[in-house]
Parts: sequence; C-alpha cells; structure tokens
Amino acid sequence: MTEFQLIERLKPLLPANACVVVGAGDDCAVLDTGTPGAHTLFKTDAMVEGIHFTPETPPEKIGRKALARCLSDVAAMGGSPTVALVTLGLPPGFDPERVSALYRGMADLASRHSVAIAGGETTTSPERLFLSIALLGSVPAGGAVLRSGARLGDAILVTGELGGSLDGWHLDFEPRLDEGRWLAREFSPHAMIDVSDGLAGDLGHVLRASGGLGAELFKPALPVSRAAKVRARTGDLAKPAVAAALTDGEDFELLFTVASADAVRLLDAWKRRFPGVRLSCVGRVQERPGVWLRDPRSGLQPVAAGGYEHFAS
Ligand SMILES: [Mg+2]
Repeated sequence: MTEFQLIERLKPLLPANACVVVGAGDDCAVLDTGTPGAHTLFKTDAMVEGIHFTPETPPEKIGRKALARCLSDVAAMGGSPTVALVTLGLPPGFDPERVSALYRGMADLASRHSVAIAGGETTTSPERLFLSIALLGSVPAGGAVLRSGARLGDAILVTGELGGSLDGWHLDFEPRLDEGRWLAREFSPHAMIDVSDGLAGDLGHVLRASGGLGAELFKPALPVSRAAKVRARTGDLAKPAVAAALTDGEDFELLFTVASADAVRLLDAWKRRFPGVRLSCVGRVQERPGVWLRDPRSGLQPVAAGGYEHFAS
C-alpha cells in the first residue's frame, strides 16, 4: 500500500467540526478559530533517523530541516508561520549535546521567521531518533491558496531550480515564505503546492485536487538544477537531468498556477521583486488528465507518476 492509498483510507475516519475550513489533503489544514479576518493554518511533519537523515547528519541541520519543511507548507498556502511545538523521540543513551545542537538549528531558523517554539514533548524511542513538529500559521480569511483551484488553460509556474537536491541543499533550503505571501497578495494564484515529492508528483496532486485536470509541460522550460546536470554526467545513479527535475523531490520550491493572461505580468513583477530567485513558466493546464511532457524533438509523452514514494510497493 502506498502512502497516498493509506491517506485515502484514513480520511473518512477523521472527525470534523465547525472550525475546519479545509481538512486533510492540502499542504496545511485551514481553520476558523474565531480570529476576525484571519484563518489559522495548522501543519505537522516528522523526520525519522534512517529515513530522512542518518546518524552522521549534523544535528543542527536535522533540526533546521524539520522546521523548514513545515515552513515550506505554510509558504505554499501564502501564509505566515507563528508558533511551533516539538516532539522528540530519543533512543536510550542519547547524546545531550547532539540534542542541544538540533534545537539550535531549529531555533535559528525559527527566530529568523519570528516563529516561537512554545514547548513540546520528549519521549523514548527504542532505536532511532525522531523529531515531529506541529506548526501554526496565519493567513487572511479566505486568502489561503489551496491545491484544488487550478483551472483549464492556467499557466504553470515554479520557483527556483529542480532536481538533485539530495546531493546538497535539501538540508539547507530556504522556505519560500516571502515569495508565497507576495504571490498570494499580488497575483492570487489559483492553486499552489510546495515541491516535496517531485514536480510531476506534486503537479499530479494539484491536478487531481482540481477535479481531474491534466497538464502539458514544455521540456526546454524546465529549470533543471546544476546538481542534476552534473549528476547526469558523472554520478553513479545515472538519471537524465530532466527526469531528476521531474521526480527527485525535496526541492521545496513553490509550484503554482495562474490565469495565462497574468503570466507575463507576473514574470516581470517577479524579476523586480525577487531578482535572485528564478521563476519559470513550465507549461499549462489542459483537459486531458495526467502530466505530459512536450519535447520539441520527440513530441508529447506521458510522465510516469514516479514522485518520491515513502512506502515503496
Ligand atoms: Mg507540501
């Protein structure tokens, strides 16, 4: 059973109440907790030794990334993070200095984004360290950008560069909070998600959530990272750079759709506002379901759904 199949099976078991504006299935839950003019965003995410990091990973980077993953999901809603709680599972005989370093990494990133860490829980874990963060955020009421709003004919855009992040920056990525808020405020994207499973996989989530639409991506427009290109030439894991950009995951860039009539104005405004961050228009939303790649030389081909899957087989 895949992770996604498991989630579909569990969703009907989740009780809701009048607070829940958007429940399971988006980057964050959207809640109405009674604050006039605002909705609350709520997110939780876990990292486990042996899956998301190794015993050799510097502990500052483990703490930093655990929080950065949650911040990236708040960015993908166009929101601002506010408060976190941390649950830490520690194997017997843990090194207290390693735990302090983990908190320093987390606290440094939290401070930079004015996020409070308001407590949490520690527990014993039989063999491996794990870290789970619950994060609250805020967004103007009705202003959260959901996965489910993509429309036929929309332009599809993505920030930054894709592929090969596991060779380097997946521990150090900057969550696109300023960019997400600016996009939500200035251009009201129809749909947005952060790229954690790979462009093809996460675009698939958006298209399915938006009523079973499809997308055509234009191969020369994909912002393939240097790391993906280098690895395609020299790495042991031979993978074409374009395939890496489509399926590697852990890029934590923002993927969103806007009305195609707004795309040029958005690209111009972006260059002025975020001159150091690439923004690429990579394709458009179409009626035929699935993700398709147009290569000017070989034509149109379907993209296998192979984003990163946590539960293989
Ligand atoms: Mg996400």
